[in-house]
Formats: sequence, structure tokens, C-alpha cells
Amino acid sequence: MTSLLPVIQTIHGEIAGPTVAILGGVHGDEFEGVLANRQIRNILQKSLRRGTVKFAAPAHPVAWNASTRESPTDGLNLARVFPGDMLGSPTEQIAAFLTEHLIKGSDLLIDLHSAGRNFDMALMCGYLDSSPELSLKSGNFAKIFDAPYTWKHSGPPSPGRTISTAESLGIPSIYVEGRGGGQVRIADLQTYVAGVLRILHSLSMIDACPSSSTDSVWVSGDGNTDEGIISTTSGFFCTFAEVGSHVSTGDLLGEVIDAEGLLCESVYAPSSGIVMLMRRATRVLVGDTLSIIASQL
Ligand SMILES: [Zn+2]
Repeated sequence: MTSLLPVIQTIHGEIAGPTVAILGGVHGDEFEGVLANRQIRNILQKSLRRGTVKFAAPAHPVAWNASTRESPTDGLNLARVFPGDMLGSPTEQIAAFLTEHLIKGSDLLIDLHSAGRNFDMALMCGYLDSSPELSLKSGNFAKIFDAPYTWKHSGPPSPGRTISTAESLGIPSIYVEGRGGGQVRIADLQTYVAGVLRILHSLSMIDACPSSSTDSVWVSGDGNTDEGIISTTSGFFCTFAEVGSHVSTGDLLGEVIDAEGLLCESVYAPSSGIVMLMRRATRVLVGDTLSIIASQL
């Protein structure tokens, strides 16, 4: 049987230095992270001067080949099973492999996601604000990445993620989300690549990088895409608000209507803030995530 494990590519600079691990395609329906990884690798093959960069993209090859969020082999979401289990199901084995060979020993983990097929997300760089020392480091890397939105997640990390595993190993980490939807926008891809190059430049690993062009909007709150504003009915979610927009408490985000076109529920913003996520997949079941609003800092 062919290996289901991802390939880890490594590039060394001429001078010893930090090790940065970059993931893409943890979810197989997220194209930006994998393509950005390839472009970053192509650039670093000629320009990495100091340190080591390790790439695993696609991190979940069978899901990538099928363009699915979960594994077509065992149905598991790779971003929910870290740190993994070498003796577990295929997806748990991939997580264990990446924990052992990519995350451990790194000085920084960068996990490039996007909203995938089911969601729409503002282009953002997020980090965990848990342990003070790591939070300071991760927050500084997020600042250097300089995405249009920077999301500081307070409270205990959601389990099973790459960044929660990095946190438990004492390694700073950031992750990136983008518009997704099965579409890759060139400007988004350039933002991913430029943000990573700025971080490598800040670590003196490369000599030059694109200058930052955004004035990042900083937001806080839980970014767990399994939670947020949940549908209490089943039907068809029709959206009103756009990601990146400001909403006030009680503003309409969307409506769930049934197959006859009748209103099942109106979905309102429970708080003021920035719309960071809107559901893109129209058919919804009770319990599905519809939107996430984050408070502006
Ligand atoms: Zn993802």
C-alpha cells in the first residue's frame, strides 16, 4: 500500500539558525496554503541564507487529492486529532508523524489554512494568547505577518490543532485563514507568501522581503470554527453580512429558509465586532456553524 504520510521537504541555509516549520493543506479543500508553500519553497531554494525551513504541503495527501476537508479514508479531520497517534487511524498517524518530524524541534510553526469549501473567512493571521511568554512571541510573529486582520485567541487552546500541539511543546505558532471557497485569489496568495517571507526576514534567514502594505485590524475572541453562531434550524442559509464588515449587536447576518422559501430563523449578531466567518455552504443542519464575530481590539 502506498504511504498516506505527507512528504516533508527541508531547505537549509548556509549558516546555522532557527528552524521554521510551514504547513499547508491540513484540510484538503484549502488550496492557498499548499500553493503558497510551493511558492515560498521556490523562493527559498535560491535565497535561504540562515537556518532551516521545513515544509509539509499538502499535509494530508489523501484529503488533498480528493479536495475534501476530512480524510476520505477514515473520515477524520486532521486539524482535530493532533498530536496524533502512530498506532491510530491513518489520519491520527499523519498527525503523529507531523508532530514528531515537523513540529518538534522547530522554533516556529506556521500553519497556512483558508476557509475551504464550506466557509468564507476574512484573510487573517491568528495566534493563541495563553501562556504569557509564548503569546508574546506568537503575537509578534503575527504582527510581522501583517495580514489584513490579526486574531488574538484568548483562553485555553481548542484541542487537536497543530497550534495547540506547538503550544504544549513550548513552540510559538501562528496560523493563517483566507477567503477560500475553492477559489484562490492571486492577492491572497501573495499575502500568504509575503507574510511568511517577512517573518523569515525578521529572523535574519533571508536578506530581503516584500514590505508590508496593510494596516492590520486586530480582533480578539474564540476562533473555533466548530462553534460560533450555530444554526438552530435546518434549511438553506442565505447570507446578508459580508466577512470583514463591522456589525453591531442585533444586525442581521443571514436567514435560514426552508425549501418552500419560508423563513425558519433570522440570524443576528450577538455582539458588535467584525464578521470573521460566514458559512458559504447553503444547506445547513441544526448545530452547523453559520458565522463568527470577533471584537475589535
Ligand atoms: Zn483549514
